[in-house]
Amino acid sequence: MKIYLNGKLVPEKDAKISVFDHGLLYGDGVFEGIRSYNGRVFMLDAHIDRLYRSALAIALEIPMSKTGLIAAVVKTCKANDTMNGYVRLVVTRGVGTLGLNPYTCKKGQVIIIAANIQLYPQELYAHGLQVVTSGTIRNHTESLSPCVKSLNYLNNIMAKIEAINAGVEEVVMLNQQGFVAEASGDNIFIIKGNQLLTPPVSCGALEGVTRNVVMDLAQQAGMDVRECVLTRYDLYNADEMFLTGTAAEIISVIKMDRRTIGGGKPGAKTLALTTRFRAFAARNGTPI
Ligand code: PMP
Repeated sequence: MKIYLNGKLVPEKDAKISVFDHGLLYGDGVFEGIRSYNGRVFMLDAHIDRLYRSALAIALEIPMSKTGLIAAVVKTCKANDTMNGYVRLVVTRGVGTLGLNPYTCKKGQVIIIAANIQLYPQELYAHGLQVVTSGTIRNHTESLSPCVKSLNYLNNIMAKIEAINAGVEEVVMLNQQGFVAEASGDNIFIIKGNQLLTPPVSCGALEGVTRNVVMDLAQQAGMDVRECVLTRYDLYNADEMFLTGTAAEIISVIKMDRRTIGGGKPGAKTLALTTRFRAFAARNGTPI
């Protein structure tokens, strides 16, 4: 595997960074997870834009232009023949002193890994997955905004541990007010009649790229798409529920906190949206 590291493609064994990088010492940095389908990088511009928004929010200067970064992602995919894969793009704060001060770090480091995708097992797409409510509250928006896709994922990891301990695949994370925010690594949607509902990002969700694509596709399909504040009650009483994410795509949730959601199997509207999403993803993207 060839890794992109600060402007060069290097063999995996040579892709090393300093132990003084604040990305390692403090989780100080930002990242993106991106998919390629059929030789095209899906929604690459949207991912790059979000990376820059995340970086701006944490006062991190990305030492490359957007076009340069887009070209670097495509080049790394090409070098690894990643035609249907997963790309991890990381920008760390860079090498500094042991103190917190980010301004001791002279230059951010840019890392691109083009690899294979680890999906949920196929049977979960066919039958749906189960979730529980996490006791770990999503980061307060004025602590570290969940809109920032930062290298510090401990909030999500604490929640993921709860899912694993409960023997389920994912969790529903609530915000400090008790409203639904998102899953540990995916956005949450419910369907109620012809309405497709998802929490606004101000409730503590990442503005998922898949989320935005799904909202557009649902609107085109004639659904009434709304961002709205949701409680667990709304989720329990949904006709259908699903999660979205770059890796997961669209996956049904059939049980939450031992309550059966809707018919207890992936719903017709979720499946129809999945078909639309896959068709869209297969056709669109930046050529590798
Ligand atoms: N929320 C969180 C916390 C995430 O880490 C992710 C990405 N895995 C998502 C939502 C979904 O975002 P996207 O569709 O851009 O992958």
